[in-house]
Amino acid sequence: MNDRNNALQAADHCVKCGLCLPHCPTYRLYADEADSPRGRIALAEGLLRGLLSPDANLREHLDRCLLCRACEVHCPSGVRFSRIIDAARNELGPSEAPPSLDHPLARLGLALARHLPLPGQRARLARALPGGGSTPAPGHYPPSSTPHSRLGLLTGCVTRIQQTGALQAAIHLLNALGHEVVISAAAACCGALAAHHGDRATAARQTDTLRQAFDGLDGVIAIASGCALQLHEALPKLGAEDLITRLARELPDSDLRIASLNARIALHTPCTLANGLRRGDDLPRLMRCLPETDWQPLGRPGDCCGAAGMHLLTRLAQAERLRQPLLDQLLRERPALLLTSNIGCALHLAEGAQAHGLEIEVLHPVELLARQLEED
Ligand code: SF4
Ligand code: SF4
Repeated sequence: MNDRNNALQAADHCVKCGLCLPHCPTYRLYADEADSPRGRIALAEGLLRGLLSPDANLREHLDRCLLCRACEVHCPSGVRFSRIIDAARNELGPSEAPPSLDHPLARLGLALARHLPLPGQRARLARALPGGGSTPAPGHYPPSSTPHSRLGLLTGCVTRIQQTGALQAAIHLLNALGHEVVISAAAACCGALAAHHGDRATAARQTDTLRQAFDGLDGVIAIASGCALQLHEALPKLGAEDLITRLARELPDSDLRIASLNARIALHTPCTLANGLRRGDDLPRLMRCLPETDWQPLGRPGDCCGAAGMHLLTRLAQAERLRQPLLDQLLRERPALLLTSNIGCALHLAEGAQAHGLEIEVLHPVELLARQLEED
């Protein structure tokens, strides 16, 4: 069955009950049926059946969707909303900014923006996270003892520039847990940005590259939950997992000791982890490895921060409105650290915190765990 028929079959399961509506961030923001899951399903169905023309209005309502999947979690009929919206966006074709950052010039632009005092929101985003050293080089990173598995580590198109410290920390902790880590020079973008912006051909090319790069390993780890979700769905045979899920499963029962930390922490669970992968409990479980540490959830798990793939660049006003309640909470509670496990959320929240003059360190949880790991 092709994607269009798959999507139409998924849309058939919608009984128009509206139970998803209160959980949809864009419906809460715009109070417009066309910006609700139910309304978008009707629009997508009309488009895919050739009953509606692909005009600017229709595109606008479909483009505003964050693909946060809160509607999927709360739908009693199990409607696979993401399948429907991806097929509709593919029908419309690519929109807005180029979705892929998997190009040498795009990466060079990001790298330059980190170090030059350029104006503008894109440059502020590029500088939002502190640099953590160099990107780990392609190769094999063995543990000190005989490895009990070989895991590929996806360095990602943005993460490899913006979250090098998290990549290094991931290697450190996975090695400490006895895994050999393999970084492939060929593996770059997971394809999520292209897939969700109507460019299925690019997404297919990117996932095919990943399939070849990680073939024969015992599993693949992504440190960004958005990338983990894409790998999990596009390449199910790779055994891809989010790093948080892997650590939450192995770290609590391991011999590793993590030192406590005397600091207030805000813990943000990305919608890709909570709704997409349905692993929202993994992050709090992992935090319990940090003894006697004062952490509080930021927002409600699964509520989108507004970053939503490229929305933090292409739909800035909407992204900022969705982010504001989280910034208000940070301004009230004044934690010293903010932990989040998706690169888009980290950039978006860090940039907002800086714009509000809030002094806060934004880290991937693995960076804090590696920092607190007690070495023998
Ligand atoms: S998507 Fe699910 S919850 Fe929303 S209206 Fe359709 S059946 Fe109801
Ligand atoms: S994916 Fe998120 S933004 Fe899109 S319709 Fe569902 S709940 Fe609303």
